[in-house]
Amino acid sequence: MIIIMKNNSEEKDVEKVVSRVKELGYDTHLSQGKTKTIIGIIGDLDREELIDSLAAYPEIDRLVPIQEPYKLANKSFKDSETVINIDDVVIGGKDIVIMAGPCAVESEEQIINTAKAVKRSGAKVLRGGAFKPRTSPYSFQGLHETGLKLLQKAARETGLKIVTEVMDPRDVELVGKYTDIFQIGARNMQNYFLLKEVGITDKPVLLKRGMSATYKELLMAAEYIMSSGNQKVILCERGIRTFEEYTRNTLDLVSIPVLKKSTHLPIVIDPSHATGHWDLVGSAAKGAVAMGVDGLIIEVHPEPARALSDGEQSLKFSKFDKLLSELKDISRVVGRNI
Ligand code: PEP
Ligand code: MN
Repeated sequence: MIIIMKNNSEEKDVEKVVSRVKELGYDTHLSQGKTKTIIGIIGDLDREELIDSLAAYPEIDRLVPIQEPYKLANKSFKDSETVINIDDVVIGGKDIVIMAGPCAVESEEQIINTAKAVKRSGAKVLRGGAFKPRTSPYSFQGLHETGLKLLQKAARETGLKIVTEVMDPRDVELVGKYTDIFQIGARNMQNYFLLKEVGITDKPVLLKRGMSATYKELLMAAEYIMSSGNQKVILCERGIRTFEEYTRNTLDLVSIPVLKKSTHLPIVIDPSHATGHWDLVGSAAKGAVAMGVDGLIIEVHPEPARALSDGEQSLKFSKFDKLLSELKDISRVVGRNI
């Protein structure tokens, strides 16, 4: 349930209503727009009791029930889109933010050269895994803290921000020392302990959709992070499992308009993991930009043939550069900016 206050209601009116709701045993979440204040009520609600208890407040415009199980992530809970600022990088605004870099940090030379190249082409955020969730325990697992240090060095040299995956609640503090954005991987989308742990930090979280997760499950995972206190969640569609085997996953582009209808959170597409083939990454990225995405996360490697992971879906510097110039044109047509 949300309470929509009358236009231009005063702070003391809002406080009066909030304290009554709290008295009834519920938590509240305030969304203060330019003219409208929305008070979200969180908890296992007794609707009749709430309606009766709030009927006598003339400052209230109306009460609106929310059917969906996600509340803080719900579009109705907030009167504006969520915009996440990391210094001069703005996610969820007019800019489509490009995050790019290798699947995994492999060496100093690799990450620094990649950072410089993607920055030159127009990326704002450097990606690179230091903790890798590999299907086989015998595959390269990442450089761990050494990888985080290299990411930091590359970011300092280029001015890029960092997004990197955290896989274990015990590593949140360590990864948080280096990264600007935590990445929660598809395999961990429903690792609730991990979600709660990043939820008590104040860093943005890129939450990837699980490979068999519905939109509702994705939004409930976001709700875990938000209900722990951290409202800076970025949703990421990276392809889902279907019967099709040609592509690594099936990119669900319609997730963009569906999620835009359901939530105020920014949406990012990962065309690399979604397709699994470097030659399909461009088309997928172009489709995403045309459909209103807020950002893209793309794998780029100096020498994809020698990559320790995901080389087959990684772009060379020149291909990435060409793609970004094409994406810039499309973004203009849809009123956005890269
Ligand atoms: C990644 O981005 O490196 C990754 C492992 O992605 P996903 O969790 O989407 O598979
Ligand atoms: Mn990868």
